[in-house]
Amino acid sequence: MNDWDIAIKRGVEHNVPRVFKVLREHPYLEDLARKVREGKLEVLSNLDYYIEMTMKSVERIGGKAYFVENAEQAREIVGKIVGNGKRVVMGKSMVAYETGIRKYLQSLGNEVWETDLGELLIQFADEPPSHIIAPAVHMTRERIRELIKEKLGVDPGDKHEDIVKVAREFLRQKFLTADIGITGANAVAADAGSIVLVENEGNIRMSSVVPPVHISITGVEKILPNLEYAIYEALVQAAYAGLYPPTYINVTSGPSSTGDVEQKRVSPAHGPKEFHLILVDNGRRKANEDPVLREALLCIRCGRCHFHCPVYRVLDGKWGDPPYSGPMGAMWSGIVYNDYKPALLCSHAGNCREVCPMKINIPKVLEYLKNKYFSMMRAGTKE
Ligand code: SF4
Repeated sequence: MNDWDIAIKRGVEHNVPRVFKVLREHPYLEDLARKVREGKLEVLSNLDYYIEMTMKSVERIGGKAYFVENAEQAREIVGKIVGNGKRVVMGKSMVAYETGIRKYLQSLGNEVWETDLGELLIQFADEPPSHIIAPAVHMTRERIRELIKEKLGVDPGDKHEDIVKVAREFLRQKFLTADIGITGANAVAADAGSIVLVENEGNIRMSSVVPPVHISITGVEKILPNLEYAIYEALVQAAYAGLYPPTYINVTSGPSSTGDVEQKRVSPAHGPKEFHLILVDNGRRKANEDPVLREALLCIRCGRCHFHCPVYRVLDGKWGDPPYSGPMGAMWSGIVYNDYKPALLCSHAGNCREVCPMKINIPKVLEYLKNKYFSMMRAGTKE
């Protein structure tokens, strides 16, 4: 067995039974998943209206909201907010990866650290992520030990707990001295202008609260009609990722504030002085106009489909254009990168559809992308 076979075997053995157990023990979660699907469909059927509502809500509570059409515009706005010579901590954000934010900020002369442990490991190794929520799932702990020894000059040993302890000590000092924190968002509440983030490590909470400036960058499909739906989304994402209850759910509504002096709400207080929300299109609105591709926009990034997919497993996790991988990644490579080739590899086992909390008919979407690819090849409009 190679490293991937060992690592994915361990990952599947931990994740698959755990998610089933979570769903058996908390039967209300399947109802919440149905509600989240309804809420997302409501937004997708009126997407421009909800984008505008979200932006107005963010401005109303003292934040700044931006809508960008593509990755270049996203980099330009983040670059203007950050500037250069800053220390930046990044909570895990797939949209930040999609739009190339870390490397762009580094090219401007900033010191930028991924703070999700898996993301930090792939930053150290300069490798793409192999799973959407477990980006270093391809690394065995033996390899991680060697990587940490090489990058930090410390031997953590090969116990999981000791590896995490070394990363904690390294990152703590980065959090406490960072100028800017960048996160994604699991969900955005259109009515309140709040973002909701779910996590276990505490790195997102630290990145979004300790530095004086917080930037959240996320896709427009993360909008939900209101805060109630947005919190449901976080619970459902955590459950189907197999980490339930989540250690933290963070709700951020604008910069920090207090009402402790005569009940007048003023900002900032002890947390960030600035809050910026960047809503990214990058192909999502076009996909939303297509009734088949719209289904893919319902994805909540739980990563469950990966662990049930035989193709993802035999391709060593290298299926889809990073950061998107696995069955969802084959769909999303088409949406954000116009790359339909990953869809050609689907074997239509159908396990993904069975386990997806949003009931996305992933094989149908991939078959549709395959047909699109062949039509374009026949017409000579795609290489
Ligand atoms: S496609 Fe479904 S199972 Fe796969 S990551 Fe998205 S929500 Fe989860």
